[in-house]
Amino acid sequence: MTSLSTQHSALSTTNCPLCGGDKAPGKTTMTVELGYGIVVIRDVPAKVCALCGADWIDDAIAGKIENIVEEARKKHSQMEVISLKAS
Ligand SMILES: [Zn+2]
Repeated sequence: MTSLSTQHSALSTTNCPLCGGDKAPGKTTMTVELGYGIVVIRDVPAKVCALCGADWIDDAIAGKIENIVEEARKKHSQMEVISLKAS
């Protein structure tokens, strides 16, 4: 399914630090507050806790999101909705 899962073993070997539940690969939606607006990033690959729904994002994905947020900041859009779905 996912090609991004192998680099960070810490993500897959530890249980949720919040509730101890199992983490499973999944997708999440991130909302980043810019002050004057927000950026919504959908279809973000993440490890999601099966019990409480907390999510963790890969460093590589976090970098991508930073770039997206930076672009949105330059555009000064009040609301930007972006899908990270791999094309
Ligand atoms: Zn949890």
